[in-house]
Amino acid sequence: MAHEEFSFETRLLHNKHKVDPATGAVSVPIQHASTFHQSDFDQFGKYDYGRSLNPTREALEDVIAELEGGLKGFAFSSGMAAISTAFLLLSAGDHIVITEDVYGGTFRMVTEVLSRLGVDHTFVDMTNIDEVKQAIQHNTKAFYVETPSNPLMKVTDIKAISLIAKETGALTFVDNTFLTPSYQKPLELGADVVLHSATKFLSGHSDVVAGLAVVNDEDLAKRLGFLQNGFGAILGVQDAWLVLRGIKTLHVRLEQSQKSAMKLAEYLNAHPLVEKVHYPGLESHPQYQIQKDQAGGPGAVLSFELANEDALRTFLANVKIPVFAVSLGAVESILSYPAKMSHAAMPQAEREKRGITNSLVRLSVGLENSDDLIKDFSQAFRHVEQKQLVLQQGDS
Ligand SMILES: *Cc1c(COP(=O)(O)O)cnc(C)c1O
Repeated sequence: MAHEEFSFETRLLHNKHKVDPATGAVSVPIQHASTFHQSDFDQFGKYDYGRSLNPTREALEDVIAELEGGLKGFAFSSGMAAISTAFLLLSAGDHIVITEDVYGGTFRMVTEVLSRLGVDHTFVDMTNIDEVKQAIQHNTKAFYVETPSNPLMKVTDIKAISLIAKETGALTFVDNTFLTPSYQKPLELGADVVLHSATKFLSGHSDVVAGLAVVNDEDLAKRLGFLQNGFGAILGVQDAWLVLRGIKTLHVRLEQSQKSAMKLAEYLNAHPLVEKVHYPGLESHPQYQIQKDQAGGPGAVLSFELANEDALRTFLANVKIPVFAVSLGAVESILSYPAKMSHAAMPQAEREKRGITNSLVRLSVGLENSDDLIKDFSQAFRHVEQKQLVLQQGDS
């Protein structure tokens, strides 16, 4: 039974898989079997082989479909497996219009794999609707959106792009990793395929790599289901269970992290050593209003720039609480360096064209006390200041 009358927070816990019908267990059982006995020679049961369907993975697929307000969910072995499988909906001769500061792995798939298979692309600044329209070709079959974008937190108007896509006869793909259905429901805004790196906020504990896709259309569901089974990059059952467990606390984690992210964004925005803060929760953000209209919140990821790479190096060498790592969306705060991490797959010239400079750092805010984070950042900034003073004295 779908509890659509209840709020999102309640539905995170009370869905059709809240109790195992066979035992009453309140946690979804992990079904390891790779194959299932068929009692009828002519007619096989619902489950036959683990790649095609598995009850644990199916539970996660049902849960994400319900939370995104979609018809059918699919779980994959990573976010990139979900994204790459969704790209297989396209054929040689097709063209994609894609947001320019897309996740580095997606950039790599589009530029180095799809191009080789005859699927062409045009990168655009998706905040510029005219640029999007100008990029349309007779063979444009998909618009690929990431919002807020990684790592510059640009916000794309999902409704506007979906409308253009419909007029063009193309599909709209939205990578919803940063906000999750807790804050943003792309299908309700007109998108056709929602994609997730469930490695991030959905699971939330830096302990599983997983991907999800959700569609809202019977025919698309059939095609994507065929590709999931055909390509075979499915999520394993232990990992499906970890994502299911993470999802139960999604809303409280995200709310708390977002509160702290807002505080940190304001702190950084006022700090003299910070040149720029990219966070759609700040009123100064160029797409602040679009974000407010289409999402329940700005999320818990932001990025900021210092004066130069050297200042950033000193800051990162002295900051103590956040881990310095690839990834985001975890209980612990994570600082990452897009130029050498998430966007290392993008050549330097391409990165700089997109504004991903060597002095840009991304912060995914976790569940630490926000005052502790500010205290930590402040002492790291003092090191940057001291170093600048020493350098200035050396000059004179
Ligand atoms: C991490 C990430 C991906 C890739 O997901 P994996 O689980 O690492 O394969 C895709 N999109 C965004 C926005 C991401 O942050």
